[in-house]
Amino acid sequence: MVLERGEVANSWRHERWDSLRLLTPNWLSRLPGQRYWGTDPDGFMTVAEVVGLISSYAAAGAAPVRIRTPVTSIRRVDRGYQVTTASGQISCRSVVLASGAANKAHVPEVRRAVPQRVESVTTFDYRNPERLPRGGVLVVGASATGVQLADEIHRSGRPVILSVGEHVRLPRSYRGRDVLWWMDACGVWDQRYDAIDDLERARRLPSPQLVGTPERTTLDLNVLRAAGIELVGRLAAIRDGRALFSGGLANQFALADLKMERLLDTFDEWACNQRAEVEAAPVERFEATRAPPSPRLSLDLRSGEVRSIVWATGFRPDYGWLEVPVLDGKGQLRHDGGVVADAPGMYAIGLPLLRRRKSTFIHGAEDDARDLVEHLVAYLAG
Ligand SMILES: Cc1cc2nc3c(=O)[nH]c(=O)nc-3n(C[C@H](O)[C@H](O)[C@H](O)COP(=O)(O)OP(=O)(O)OC[C@H]3O[C@@H](n4cnc5c(N)ncnc54)[C@H](O)[C@@H]3O)c2cc1C
Repeated sequence: MVLERGEVANSWRHERWDSLRLLTPNWLSRLPGQRYWGTDPDGFMTVAEVVGLISSYAAAGAAPVRIRTPVTSIRRVDRGYQVTTASGQISCRSVVLASGAANKAHVPEVRRAVPQRVESVTTFDYRNPERLPRGGVLVVGASATGVQLADEIHRSGRPVILSVGEHVRLPRSYRGRDVLWWMDACGVWDQRYDAIDDLERARRLPSPQLVGTPERTTLDLNVLRAAGIELVGRLAAIRDGRALFSGGLANQFALADLKMERLLDTFDEWACNQRAEVEAAPVERFEATRAPPSPRLSLDLRSGEVRSIVWATGFRPDYGWLEVPVLDGKGQLRHDGGVVADAPGMYAIGLPLLRRRKSTFIHGAEDDARDLVEHLVAYLAG
């Protein structure tokens, strides 16, 4: 049985901002055994469409979902696990933790030092620019969420400062195709967790600077800066009401550009090896990210220049209800490709690079689920 604390597709119903569209194209946003058959394979689903996709999938498979059933604890017992829910206890031999990789916003400790007159908004609270106080906005974090929100807030007429740390730059399209088509075709999405050198680091990699729009726009830092968004370095500290930014902006840019170039090289190499089988436009290279000549290193948060801070600093899972000692010192689940360590019969799915690079994406569930079910069935068979 599937236990869901809210409704089917709960995170998509209640934890996303209004304008969000998937950054994965429709043809890629597939679920196990279900392909996209609509008329816009290259489009990007709105949140309402994602809710529709997941809800109709659950209905079509008559998934045994118990909605409005929050799991409040899982304990180890003799022959498996004791699961406590709001409506009673369940005993089972095997449990799959599919509670999500993004249950709460991760906000750095410096948040505590934000002066009271500046409103702090996490990406869980953010819905649209109109809900922010009037005036300037500091967006912290320049991965998929940060660049999308900085752009949207700036378009609403507010001055925006974007604080940029480590990031992954990608063009929306490359050689006439969606960049995620290249990732799919040349096998980058399928790279396995046990073939990756620094797995811990790879699992912490921020999401790519991508947005899904009908116009298929690229939303990199050059675009944002040309639109009038001020770029500053990583938010390092807040002291006496002043936000202090790191000075290494040009280095961050150079690193992200270099990694993008390497990825594009991988695509080109793959295309070259395929020869006639791939129809693609000529090789492209993109302008380096232009660093502002002298990015400011501090911002007085008491001056009224910014009235709110949007923390686009990532997400974390929440295992507050898990009473089995399977978390490491940082609160991350200890597992080997989704097989939870020291907890026979316990599995996880939907976490970053669980078994493959695509593991946290909608289309990543299919292959991971197949592998894990195989393991689980063997376990239950004894
Ligand atoms: C802002 C954002 C944008 C994204 N964009 C894309 C995209 O463009 N393309 C893409 O493929 N993926 C995207 N993702 C990743 C996307 O969330 C996943 O692909 C997909 O939703 C993961 O599904 P999941 O079921 O693993 O996790 P979730 O969608 O988080 O579902 C977990 C479910 O578990 C429930 N739950 C949690 N705790 C409990 C409990 N204690 N008891 C009972 N139920 C519980 C929650 O209510 C929730 O419904 C995005 C994620 C975020 C945060």
